[in-house]
Amino acid sequence: MSTIQHLINGDLVSGGERFADVFNPSTGAAIHKVPLASRETVQQAIDAAKAAFPAWRNTPAAKRAQVMFRFKQLLQDNEAKIAQLISEEHGKTLEDAAGELKRGIENVEYAAAAPEILKGEYSRNVGPNIDAWSNFQPLGVVAGITPFNFPAMVPLWMYPLAIACGNCFILKPSERDPSSTLLIAQLMLEAGLPAGVLNVVHGDKVAVDALIEAPEVKALSFVGSTPIAEYIYKEATARGKRVQALGGAKNHAVLMPDADLDNAVNALMGAAYGSCGERCMAISVAVCVGDQVADALVAKLVPQIKALKIGAGTSCGLDMGPLVTGQHRDKVTGYVDDGVKAGAELVVDGRGFSVPGHEEGFFLGGCLFDRVTPEMRIYKEEIFGPVLCIVRVNSLEAAMQLINDHEYGNGTCIFTRDGEAARLFCDEIEVGMVGVNVPLPVPVAYHSFGGWKRSLFGDLHAYGPDGVRFYTRRKAITQRWPQRANHEASQFAFPSL
Ligand code: NAD
Repeated sequence: MSTIQHLINGDLVSGGERFADVFNPSTGAAIHKVPLASRETVQQAIDAAKAAFPAWRNTPAAKRAQVMFRFKQLLQDNEAKIAQLISEEHGKTLEDAAGELKRGIENVEYAAAAPEILKGEYSRNVGPNIDAWSNFQPLGVVAGITPFNFPAMVPLWMYPLAIACGNCFILKPSERDPSSTLLIAQLMLEAGLPAGVLNVVHGDKVAVDALIEAPEVKALSFVGSTPIAEYIYKEATARGKRVQALGGAKNHAVLMPDADLDNAVNALMGAAYGSCGERCMAISVAVCVGDQVADALVAKLVPQIKALKIGAGTSCGLDMGPLVTGQHRDKVTGYVDDGVKAGAELVVDGRGFSVPGHEEGFFLGGCLFDRVTPEMRIYKEEIFGPVLCIVRVNSLEAAMQLINDHEYGNGTCIFTRDGEAARLFCDEIEVGMVGVNVPLPVPVAYHSFGGWKRSLFGDLHAYGPDGVRFYTRRKAITQRWPQRANHEASQFAFPSL
């Protein structure tokens, strides 16, 4: 079993007194030890970032962009290795792991446009001999705290853009699957990033609290569960930091009576069971408008769920791997037990599923509940597993009310051929990311990602144009070059034209 290291000031650093196990969820075996950083270790990373900032801030944006171009190439060259590491520790299939890396690379491409996106604004002659402009300056040392479910993509939402904008970064990845995240950070240094500009510290609450409390850290990006998002938002904003904290989700798909059901079923299968349901944009509720749609949906879903190809994520050609840990598998199974007790109809039961040769793996088969009602825990709470709940309603308005009443508002979609219904849905739904016949409406890197309600704490969404605003602050400069011959008289009234 090897021990993972921190990456501080360009060096791999062994760390600390406390360690956690990292598992291969397909076998159930602990494969690595990851250090849980002390406050002192986090402070070393902060000191390194602070020392690197003055030179990095003054490095021309075009030079910073050149690092991004080389980084992108290294990520592509190492795709197979990175996907293998993700799959080994997270459990998702190799194809899915490669997919998340590709979506992450889109963010590196966006960051490579730094010279263009940081150009600022200029107005000549706003007053007599006066010109005005705004530019966007980096904040200094900023930090990111990321979840287990996208160990490559979510960190890549954050630091390429933050660094391209001239900041220095400290990443605290998930302690459950840190190896791919660390390798990717090392590739960025190999691309030519100066030591200290990007640092990785592994850890738990101790490391996160150290980042929250450090006055040198000017902004925090967080992605993870809602209770932790809310905690970090409250604690860090109370200390005057800029925070974007993206939380959990319960994403509904509405199926209208006129939907192309075969397409909707195919889309739902991937959106509900892909990555074992461990995606913040996973569809976990299908809202059927009318019993006819619901009955037809169940009839089409059941054979497909029973035919899901489930196995060790690192084998090729699978639909689904295991859940991330034994503890999480037990939590998801507990939700299925709870749904049965509450009176929902368990149409497909994935409990007790095991893969021959991988009996100790953290597997759970696909589960489908019908006739779920809004007061049930399986409806209200985020399960984060391969469990799809069907809720039956009588109208589009009832479906929208249901979604709008839910505490989460990350993603949603509607399957329909009716443009009027789709337009109403897009206008009135209280959710941050909406799909029309698109099950996982994850915005591309040049838009921005974020939910509404208790799925996001803060004002600015992640990456894209909002990411640029988040990682920079505007400075407005007003400049006069008086003409030598004309001395201007003192002016005591507030200056105006
Ligand atoms: P998590 O909240 O348990 O952990 C996220 C990060 O917070 C990790 O780095 C972890 O070490 C740290 N952390 C955990 N407990 C902490 C504590 N008490 N104090 C301070 N820091 C702590 O989330 P997870 O289980 O890793 O990821 C799954 C969750 O993330 C789901 O709720 C999912 O919906 C959410 N998620 C949201 C998005 C989004 O964009 N909205 C994207 C991906 C995942």
